[in-house]
Amino acid sequence: MSKELAFECPKCGYNKVEEVVGVDGTINHCLTAIMEDGSYAYDGDGEIDGDSFLVKFQCYNCGFIIAETEEELVEFLKEQPCNQ
Ligand SMILES: [Zn+2]
Repeated sequence: MSKELAFECPKCGYNKVEEVVGVDGTINHCLTAIMEDGSYAYDGDGEIDGDSFLVKFQCYNCGFIIAETEEELVEFLKEQPCNQ
């Protein structure tokens, strides 16, 4: 069982991450849980069909860009004081 990671925005202190996915244009999802192994859950309609691709992860509140891949996201979160 993988551990859940907490997020605290370095810029505004908000605690929710938003995933930006490209399809035709982009779709934003607010993440509800991020696990240590890089898997995550989000609000909304679930799976996106077709040729969607991950654009980036950013702060849900201020748009601070956190990472561009799941690996970078996990690394960033693991180094945050709230996950030490
Ligand atoms: Zn922020």
